[in-house]
Amino acid sequence: MQKTKGAFLMNKRYTVRYKCRKLLSYAAVAVLITTLTPGAASAAGTATELRAEGNRTTGAEEQPAETVRSRVAIIVDDFGNGMRGTDEMFELPVKITAAVMPFLSTTEQDAKRAHERGYDVLVHLPMEPRKGKPEWLGPGAVLTSMSDAEVRQRVEAALDNVPYAIGINNHMGSKVTGDERVMGIVLAVCKERGLFFVDSHTNYRSVAGKLARELGLPPVENHIFLDDVHSVGHVLKQMRLVQERALDQDFCVTIGHVGIQGKETAAGIRSGIAELKDHVDFVGISELVKQEWKWKAQLKLP
Ligand SMILES: [Zn+2]
Repeated sequence: MQKTKGAFLMNKRYTVRYKCRKLLSYAAVAVLITTLTPGAASAAGTATELRAEGNRTTGAEEQPAETVRSRVAIIVDDFGNGMRGTDEMFELPVKITAAVMPFLSTTEQDAKRAHERGYDVLVHLPMEPRKGKPEWLGPGAVLTSMSDAEVRQRVEAALDNVPYAIGINNHMGSKVTGDERVMGIVLAVCKERGLFFVDSHTNYRSVAGKLARELGLPPVENHIFLDDVHSVGHVLKQMRLVQERALDQDFCVTIGHVGIQGKETAAGIRSGIAELKDHVDFVGISELVKQEWKWKAQLKLP
């Protein structure tokens, strides 16, 4: 399922990039002709000539479109409960996005720390899964048995509890993200507050992306879980997949966790960053959403 979608996206994006590159190659040829024709240089052409000149000195005239690098947004879930690996995640050498659970012992502290370090903050909203124990959900969870008003109240309370949040992603939630009524309310609150929703993609039948598009919100979703198997080696292997995906479709959103195996996940991410950093750029989720979906933040902070 994900693969097919990825391949489709990849083809589409590749075609667009290829066309852009081709156009730029034609433009470069036109500039060269202009500069070689006496008296033909116009004021408008001068800047382009300078760029072509720059390219000549760096020997890069054949690939003028290569300045934009693929981007990777790493989201780390489950902050807020003093979980193992928290310090290690805050010491990573690139920008990550911290998804912080509401109403827990270090909710405020972790959100503040992330913000001060320049990380984007998301509310990691507990949502009912199809399977799994209710106690894994944490306080303030959104359930499909709730009325419209109760769902809205839960989402708003969670947003008010996590400072600096610019969006929401789901903790668990395989049941809720497949429910049009409940997701419709979650996304409506996002829209009212100038936020966006990142679908963690715990349900392949999620309706979050479709509903987000209908509401004019960015349909952003997780592509790869880093630590479905808890070892440094596995996380590093997943980071290599992240790079592949990012190079194919220009960007990749990936999720890891603090928790029982948080230190191992952080170590795997750190090794992955060292390997990937010459090939991709690591960005916060807000930067990606602004660039990819032209999202304009109109935050109404409490
Ligand atoms: Zn979670």
